[in-house]
Amino acid sequence: MRSLLGHTINAKESLLGRIALNSPWFFYDPNSILATNSPDRKTLRHLAIITNANNISESLTSSGKTIYYGVSRLNELKAGDVVRLNPNGKIDVLYERESSHNVLFVTEQCNCSCLMCPQYTTSNKTDYTEQVLALIRLIDPQTRTLGITGGEPTLLGNNLFEIIKACKQNLPNTALQVLSNGIRFADFEFAKNFVLVGHPDIQIGIPLYADTDTEHNYIVQTNGFYKTLKGIQNLALFKQRVEIRIVITALNYKRLPKLAEFIYRNLPFVIHIAFMGMETKELAKKNLNEVWIDPYEYQSYLSEAVEILSLRKMNVSIYNHQLCLLPKALWKYASKSISLWKNIYIDECGSCTQKQLCGGFFASCRNIHSKHIHAL
Ligand code: SF4
Repeated sequence: MRSLLGHTINAKESLLGRIALNSPWFFYDPNSILATNSPDRKTLRHLAIITNANNISESLTSSGKTIYYGVSRLNELKAGDVVRLNPNGKIDVLYERESSHNVLFVTEQCNCSCLMCPQYTTSNKTDYTEQVLALIRLIDPQTRTLGITGGEPTLLGNNLFEIIKACKQNLPNTALQVLSNGIRFADFEFAKNFVLVGHPDIQIGIPLYADTDTEHNYIVQTNGFYKTLKGIQNLALFKQRVEIRIVITALNYKRLPKLAEFIYRNLPFVIHIAFMGMETKELAKKNLNEVWIDPYEYQSYLSEAVEILSLRKMNVSIYNHQLCLLPKALWKYASKSISLWKNIYIDECGSCTQKQLCGGFFASCRNIHSKHIHAL
């Protein structure tokens, strides 16, 4: 999540609001937070004010209005973005109106502990349902796609259904993509209740890291393999759209062709298979010695796996990979999949003719990337 930082006046509690960039006299939206270079008393109609200015007049300070001042990178905020103002001066950007990579982050709790997980997770109960419901009410109804992620969203139980219901009600034109390890869907009743919410456009992305229980379970650090498969099958029984996500690591790259074969044989109904490069944060960074492999080293395995699925008319993509590492035959599967705010290019990319097409790197991979990156 992108965050900005400022100094605070009258900031006693967290506030959630939608960014406005101007303040016409007739304007009144109790949820709006004005982002402005020059705050004055006319701007007091808003829930709060954030500004890059450093000097705030006495009349504004004494108004009681919440003001965040001295905010650098203010111009990164766009009208319609949704932010959370924290009393410590941190401004979290929870939704970006112009981005196609927005997510609802619903919990940090997880029942797996994947060795290459780039997200902080905990086994303790955390549940952001109330905040997420408030966020959904502020999101632009024209938003085309929205992810639901964690942690493991299904651990919220009924609260996950409430969140999906709220999306259905407030964002009827928005496609949802739930990222889940699939384990909870092994419970038929749970899968049924998920489906009964009746969201018209929902897809579930589920990771499968190997074609054997031993390898998969070691990577996710729990006995989840058969439950995940059962979960996928239950969702398929209810005609849900399931995508398989495979993060490639040193622990599974050699089995990619076998995994592709396994998916074709056992899960031919899935609508999409994504082979993904690692984001080297959190557990991935901590376990780097065990999970990292230079993507250059596994291209032959990846090529074979993609070919196995593609020849059988399955829908395959490659996420988070740089074009200069992929054989040209794989370029048509590569997608610019990294969220804009954490998408970077390194010095070698400066003179590259394919930069516009290439997905680049996660910001966290600035110093951890293939030795074979080269301008094309
Ligand atoms: S040099 Fe950079 S921009 Fe060019 S293909 Fe490689 S990673 Fe992409």
